[in-house]
Amino acid sequence: MSQEIAVPENPYLLLTPGPLSTSPTVRAAMLRDWCTWDDDYNLGVVSPIREQLVELATSTAPSEYTAILMQGSGTFSVEAMIGTAVPPRGRLLVLANGAYGNRLAKIASYLGLDMTLHDSGELARPDLARLEAEIQDHSHVVVVHGETTTGMMNPIAEIASIVKGAGKCLMVDAMSTFGGVPLDVAELGIDYIVSSANKCIQGVPGFGFVICRRDLLEQCEGNARSLSLDLFGQWRGMEGGEGKWRFTSPTHTVRAFAQAMQELTEEGGVGARYARYCENHQILVEGMAGLGFECVLPREWQGPIITGFLSPESPRYSFKAFYDALKAHGFVIYPGKVTGIESFRIGTIGHVFPDDFRRLISAVEECVAW
Ligand SMILES: *Cc1c(COP(=O)(O)O)cnc(C)c1O
Repeated sequence: MSQEIAVPENPYLLLTPGPLSTSPTVRAAMLRDWCTWDDDYNLGVVSPIREQLVELATSTAPSEYTAILMQGSGTFSVEAMIGTAVPPRGRLLVLANGAYGNRLAKIASYLGLDMTLHDSGELARPDLARLEAEIQDHSHVVVVHGETTTGMMNPIAEIASIVKGAGKCLMVDAMSTFGGVPLDVAELGIDYIVSSANKCIQGVPGFGFVICRRDLLEQCEGNARSLSLDLFGQWRGMEGGEGKWRFTSPTHTVRAFAQAMQELTEEGGVGARYARYCENHQILVEGMAGLGFECVLPREWQGPIITGFLSPESPRYSFKAFYDALKAHGFVIYPGKVTGIESFRIGTIGHVFPDDFRRLISAVEECVAW
């Protein structure tokens, strides 16, 4: 009994930092079942994804890096990375300027790591002079590339140059930027980078991945503070088992991700995707400025992933009413997250295009009734 199943239309676009709007073909890729033991899945789907992820991360030294997929949302992979990379006597320096940076510190504290938090505040970038001084006392540094709290792009090349200059290990939470903002981990000297399926690669949620230097990971046996989040164990399993996950893998999500990776290639790769996100962002910011909306961040720090806008000062404005009105027009936006500032956020990543943002601006114009 076979029945044709149509892929349903989404009722609205998700202008959020993930999960985000995906293509109908990515969603359709989930409409069959897979055996986690079979070559069709492990050799046919998982292993190619691991190779392609390394190629996305670096074109200059792919042979020095390896990719590990990990069940769960992005945070699970961040926790697996930190908990596996930092040895018992390691000293971790966390650079934070927002909720996701602070989450790195929270993970380190749950893991009981010896950790220093360098918090520059949500509206500032890390202090590089302070980093230069602090680096000497630490073995590992972890930082967010694009801080989703505000849309801030941290100066990753400058940070990498200081950390590598001191010969220390650099881990980057590139959750919201990987695959959407060009970057070569080998060129910059990034040792570990982490992201997830449902951000710029435009897959659906269910797993994350870490791409790291193979020689460093090889030294991490026994470091993990958790069985399920042991990145070394997961890597051993995937290498030895030719793509086999240690525990049940999110098969449908992984197959959708393979489709999403193919669509990234078809779009023209990370450079082309970055150009589309930048165009989305530019149309958004210019259109919103025309309607009197100001950005939370100065322009030079703002990335093309997600943008914070100050809430209108009118007493008649409420986020909930604005949100509901835009949703009725087919757009879902995101609440603000900056402490002490009334704001909201609009994401420009996912299967969303410049014309969608032109339509959004018209919808906002109709909704600004205050
Ligand atoms: C999305 C995101 C994460 C992971 O969040 P999950 O809810 O666990 O998927 C981590 N860091 C940043 C910067 C993010 O944008």
